[in-house]
Amino acid sequence: MSPIDTSASVVDLFVIGGGINGCGIARDAAGRGLSVTLAEMGDLAQATSSASTKLFHGGLRYLEYFEFRLVREALEERETLLVMMPHISWPMRFVLPYHPDMRFESDTPVSKLMSFFMPWMRGRRPAWLIRLGLLMYDTMGGRKILPATRTIDLARDPAGVALKPKFHKAYEYSDCWVEDSRLVVLNARDAEARGARILVGTKVISARRDGDLWRIVTESASGQAEHSARALVNAGGPWVEDIIRNVTRIDSSEGVRLVRGSHIVTRRLFDHDRCYFFQGTDGRIVFAIPYEQDFTLIGTTDQDHHGAPGEAVCTEAEQDYLCTFVSQYFARPVTRADIVWTYSGVRPLYNDGAKSATAATRDYVLSLDTKGPPLLNVFGGKITTYRRLAENALAKLAPFLAMTKGAWTACVPLPGGDFPHDGVAALTARLKADYPFLTDYWAGRLIRAYGTEAAQVLAGAKSAADLGRDFGATLTETELHWLMQHEYARRAADVVWRRSKLGLRLTAAQIAELDTFMQAQHGAISPAAE
Ligand SMILES: Cc1cc2nc3c(=O)[nH]c(=O)nc-3n(C[C@H](O)[C@H](O)[C@H](O)COP(=O)(O)OP(=O)(O)OC[C@H]3O[C@@H](n4cnc5c(N)ncnc54)[C@H](O)[C@@H]3O)c2cc1C
Repeated sequence: MSPIDTSASVVDLFVIGGGINGCGIARDAAGRGLSVTLAEMGDLAQATSSASTKLFHGGLRYLEYFEFRLVREALEERETLLVMMPHISWPMRFVLPYHPDMRFESDTPVSKLMSFFMPWMRGRRPAWLIRLGLLMYDTMGGRKILPATRTIDLARDPAGVALKPKFHKAYEYSDCWVEDSRLVVLNARDAEARGARILVGTKVISARRDGDLWRIVTESASGQAEHSARALVNAGGPWVEDIIRNVTRIDSSEGVRLVRGSHIVTRRLFDHDRCYFFQGTDGRIVFAIPYEQDFTLIGTTDQDHHGAPGEAVCTEAEQDYLCTFVSQYFARPVTRADIVWTYSGVRPLYNDGAKSATAATRDYVLSLDTKGPPLLNVFGGKITTYRRLAENALAKLAPFLAMTKGAWTACVPLPGGDFPHDGVAALTARLKADYPFLTDYWAGRLIRAYGTEAAQVLAGAKSAADLGRDFGATLTETELHWLMQHEYARRAADVVWRRSKLGLRLTAAQIAELDTFMQAQHGAISPAAE
């Protein structure tokens, strides 16, 4: 066995986990002048952070749990984040059809109050209560960009066309969409631009305290290496408890509750750009969201997960559940035959002893262990609150590390996001004018992925032929080189399911060819990360 490489110098902060929380913390820390190393055992965003519903949202249903702090923080964040990343995030309107048969979760504090004061409602919500919830949602987060809630007549509005005729009225409110896995990689890139070291394909196998330092051993294709750090962050997501017990071997009673959420993707089910918020007879909610232009994303389920975190899949029972759920609303029933792709992720929720998976808190918990050099364990969290979580994490670590400045990330653009929040159409038109060979779809896709960096990705090409090999669905060799050099991509799955969603448009044979090509290139191209 080859000796452990101990040449790495001491850093201020070592972060375990390249999901949104690890990358958000690494970016914030690097911007405060700290030296940072982040290790991700696989690809960036390979776990929960690419398996979300992809919403920057306050979480309307959390109001039923009186989770006001969480909802307010998330609502306030939506517009801050929109301004930071107008390429990968955009406002979205949500249509909530109202019907007297709708049932709500039975174990929320609001349900308990309702069954005490209005027992005849039996789990139903009067329209005025829903309107009140939406009024709170509109006002709690200090909206400036996002439009307010309105009531719509489904007999007249295009949103009613795809629905059963029994739905007459709906409420329409605002939240935002975000490309979750691109959010992670852009945070990692920005962290690196500010001096952080981002290691992908690098698993942390042990971490122990040694005087004032942490000694961390990693394992990657190039062997084992030891790193030293003044502080350690465990942002292992669903593995957070495993890291506490088996990597740091710290004595702790804190644990994580793994709750699986699955989504299905179908061909496009409706012809408008709004999302549906459906309330089921079981009290749960499911979204049906316009996705990647030609598809509809439906989710999510909510079930305790007892297997390994990396083994979450959307089971046939979950697929049937989601199809049946949305078929209560859509005029044309949705069946398993409509499904073109599924994905599943595991929420790493702080174990607060809640009875049901749906009721477990979605709030995050940052737990600091100072029995020696500090260890910060991150539990839970939402994509929406990642930036605030990172700020709070750094505030907890501030007494132990020499930071050159305080909180700084609010509204500082991510790579490619330095343009106005409503400027996508103008940017796309400019790219098309400069690169006339691009189709509308192609130009739009590049702007949505790379924003103001799209022209750099195209590297001055005068024609499509200048972009090298065509892998299908507008993915070219030039773009692939960008992804391998600047975005840590190593395998086809990184490119077609996380840096993009081109997997929906490529065949299995095309993806296999891409993978072979990338593996051959891997030695030739030196990714920025290594
Ligand atoms: C179904 C579903 C829908 C959701 N929808 C939304 C939504 O719409 N909006 C929202 O705001 N939030 C949503 N969330 C929540 C959000 O996705 C998560 O809170 C967030 O992605 C968690 O990020 P993380 O960085 O903590 O974990 P992860 O993304 O899982 O990252 C942890 C990383 O640590 C790595 N790792 C683990 N062990 C090691 C080790 N020993 N060495 C190196 N690396 C290691 C893993 O490989 C992994 O990449 C949703 C979650 C789920 C499951």
